[in-house]
Amino acid sequence: MDIPRIFNISESAHRIHNPLSPGKLATLGAALRLEQGARVLDLGSGSGEMLCTWARDHGIVGTGIDMSRLFTEQARLRASELGVERQVKFVHDDAAGYVSEEKVDVAACLGATWIAGGFAGTIELLAQSLKPGGMILIGEPWWRHLPPSEEVARGCLAGSISDFLVLPELIASFGRLGYDLVEMVLTNQDDWDRYEAAKWLTMRRWLEANPDDELAEEVRSKLSSEPARHVACTREYLGWGVFALMPRIA
Ligand code: SAH
Repeated sequence: MDIPRIFNISESAHRIHNPLSPGKLATLGAALRLEQGARVLDLGSGSGEMLCTWARDHGIVGTGIDMSRLFTEQARLRASELGVERQVKFVHDDAAGYVSEEKVDVAACLGATWIAGGFAGTIELLAQSLKPGGMILIGEPWWRHLPPSEEVARGCLAGSISDFLVLPELIASFGRLGYDLVEMVLTNQDDWDRYEAAKWLTMRRWLEANPDDELAEEVRSKLSSEPARHVACTREYLGWGVFALMPRIA
């Protein structure tokens, strides 16, 4: 079981597999007012940067589930590097349908909401692992401007315009699902560049080291086309953010 190999290649040097800067990840951790020993579940935990740095900075404990063998291994290495391997655990598995045995204070899915068919389904899934009074974190794209055509939406790697909402609609939809939005950290165009442009150098270096690999042609073609796609589409039209939600009580 693994994710398509192209992602393990192009994102092998990323610590955060999203347009969230290390600074904004830290801002988010501080904004949530996490208590020492708080339990965090992270579905699609990638290379584990959120759990590992929050374990170091706020004393949280937690579990991350991710389908990439490489990212999960990197997460474990990062935990030892930061000296938090007794606080965090990384499991290589499919997170679809995952509900934790022990309920958690924070249940998160940052940039992998397809595991439950979109953000609404993912909120429903995460809610099943949540303690009363706990918080759900959803990392999700939104349209900065509506794309002028379906072609531009596909250029943003969306299936169609309807895959994402504009920010006021996304926020309104959390309310309709019965949640209060209690915090958020949004990313900007420079943050997108850190996520996307970092892939280009990784792909270039990988191509030099693996010219005869069966994916060399695909990586070559991506390295040629991705910068223009990114600046014409994703950078211009897509926003991204992490939204902290609590079930409405009144
Ligand atoms: N939350 C992390 C990673 C986001 S990228 C971060 O912010 O850095 C999306 C992640 O979802 C990748 O690490 C990918 O391996 C993982 N993934 C994709 N499908 C998955 C699935 N079905 N179950 C678990 N993880 C999955």
